Amino acid sequence: MPLPKAELHLHIEGTLEPELAFELAARNGVTLPYADTEDLREAYRFDDLQSFLDLYYGLMAVLRTERDFADLADAYLARAAAQGVRHAEIFFDPQAHLARGVSMGTVVEGLWRALGDSEARHGVSTRLIMCFLRDESAESAMDTLMAAKPHLDRITGVGLDSAEVGHPPVKFREVYEAAAALGLRRVAHAGEEGPPEYITEALDVLGVERVDHGLRCMEDPELVARLVRDRIPLTLCPLSNVRLRAVDALADHPLPAMLEAGLRCTVNSDDPAYFGGYIGDNFDALPLTDEQQRELARNSFLAAFLEDDEERRAAYLAELDAYGT
Ligand SMILES: [Zn+2]
Repeated sequence: MPLPKAELHLHIEGTLEPELAFELAARNGVTLPYADTEDLREAYRFDDLQSFLDLYYGLMAVLRTERDFADLADAYLARAAAQGVRHAEIFFDPQAHLARGVSMGTVVEGLWRALGDSEARHGVSTRLIMCFLRDESAESAMDTLMAAKPHLDRITGVGLDSAEVGHPPVKFREVYEAAAALGLRRVAHAGEEGPPEYITEALDVLGVERVDHGLRCMEDPELVARLVRDRIPLTLCPLSNVRLRAVDALADHPLPAMLEAGLRCTVNSDDPAYFGGYIGDNFDALPLTDEQQRELARNSFLAAFLEDDEERRAAYLAELDAYGT
């Protein structure tokens, strides 16, 4: 039985495996520019950010209906459960779908079909986090937040993703203020390819409670001290960092040093269909002791947005404590 854990950094669009992509394409009459699943799997071996993004956004064309989004999320939850995930906080990118003429309602209600059944089917509790594409305008982000208003009973928080450099957190100050006023939790990708200053800005200007990636904090000792002092969780994604060249090799990954520094790190899979593995594979990718793996799992439950269900958090922590004993 795998170590029980929470996944806090997972883009649902990044869980689209070649087999499901072809199945949805056939269902929706979409023609993919690949001969078969093997040909498509070959394309998943991209070697830079742009080729990843081209493939990532291109393949979204197969996601059209509520049923498609439900099938996507259900397939992820089954895989996550098999790797020990007990709680998943799932990102989605509404702008990428709205731009294709797919409505907010189709996306959110489709995902919810799977999330609503997840505990019964997979034993995984869930939260949904709506991300803004930071390379789109602040106005587009605000429009997206407004479009989500009828669905806020399904959405726990907001996040910020896509190409980081040149799109500092401050660009989204107003939309994050509006999200806070609506009672939404706040996270943001920061310090992945962007500088440590983006992490500070995400904390100070956007009021984020967790930092997604955040590995470049290690370049700024004062920032590290602050993150340690305030117990700000960081959602690390080792396999993603190597595939997108944020670090050169797994052997160079700063995660062990970050744990050593006292940072509240978690391990997650980001876009697992594209980056070579789900959460358990990310745990296994680094040379971690059993104690470190347990610390990471513990951090994931402590960092989860479970303030409305502390009993559940306590139960997960108790399950972790009992694991392997
Ligand atoms: Zn991400």
